[in-house]
Amino acid sequence: MSIEELEEQVDKLLEERDELEEVCDTLPQCAEDNGCETCNTYKKIAEIDDKIEELEEKIESLMGEEEEE
Ligand SMILES: [Zn+2]
Repeated sequence: MSIEELEEQVDKLLEERDELEEVCDTLPQCAEDNGCETCNTYKKIAEIDDKIEELEEKIESLMGEEEEE
């Protein structure tokens, strides 16, 4: 997979994340202290964060390879 494709995926995930955060903000449960610890929306956001981190690592290693050539 190319760097551009990976960056596109990161952008899509960030968009998804924004939408989920908006949902999270409107949940009464999430207005309470630590309410997000048990909310499903927040769980999905955390999963997306993990995926973004993985993709960024891949992008970094690909960029490193390009510099070596
Ligand atoms: Zn929440």
